[in-house]
Amino acid sequence: MKSLKIGVKEEKSEECYAIPDWETLELPKPVLRRLRVKPLSWFKKNFNWADKYFNEQRCENFDMVATYRPYHFNGTEFGLYIYARFFAALLINILETTGLSLGKAHAFALECVQSHGAFHYLVERYAERGTRSCFALGRTSALSHYPRYKKEVYAPMWGTQDCIEETLANVYLFQNHPEWDEEKRRYVLQLYARQRDGYGQAAELEPNALSAYYTRLEKSIGGQGTQTLEQWIRLQTPFRADRFPIYLVNDDLENSKFEEILEIIFPSCLEFEPQSEKKFNPLKLT
Ligand SMILES: [Zn+2]
Repeated sequence: MKSLKIGVKEEKSEECYAIPDWETLELPKPVLRRLRVKPLSWFKKNFNWADKYFNEQRCENFDMVATYRPYHFNGTEFGLYIYARFFAALLINILETTGLSLGKAHAFALECVQSHGAFHYLVERYAERGTRSCFALGRTSALSHYPRYKKEVYAPMWGTQDCIEETLANVYLFQNHPEWDEEKRRYVLQLYARQRDGYGQAAELEPNALSAYYTRLEKSIGGQGTQTLEQWIRLQTPFRADRFPIYLVNDDLENSKFEEILEIIFPSCLEFEPQSEKKFNPLKLT
């Protein structure tokens, strides 16, 4: 079974941090233990609040389930922040909608949010291509295109059909998981069809339109170098889950409820088994 870097975090607002010392960046790496196998009826009874999400009236996007926090603004605390409540709601929705077992639905839900977050991470890395040698000097932010792109392009476009990064982040799930069967693909596509502008376009994007979308995003970032954004991202794919840290966030649940979710759905979080010999280096993109 795959092991994940998972830590537990209290929610906090996004802040700017100094450029991190990448060599010392290291997080506990627990081994994911077996899930407590429970029937769907048990989840529906005990997590009855989950019906509020992923229903006909509203459909969460993957950023609400797990938010990628860029290292440009969050330093060593960058990574994928999974919101326990939304993740549980997504898991229950998958169990209700597909015929997957709890273990398979859990792995599928993680693949969805990791791949979506991975795309945002790769866009951030692409935006500073050519500046890699300056990381150690702490000058990344000054040289990178990323902060300008995020402020002047991404933020004003978010929630509109012009938010190409979200369209492509949704499409990236299929690029990162070509092995998914028809049931998984269908599940994700019906979610996209109900998501807001920017995200929803992924449900209808024709394969031959993909390159044009990548080119639009690349131009808005101000990319440079010999590889296009599309080529570069293909080189980084498949994206391994251990390329960035993952945190679980208690989003406003009582502690006892939060721990209940952790115990059932992320049992590894209750017992950290640090593997300090392995250092995490986000610059090692092979
Ligand atoms: Zn997103």
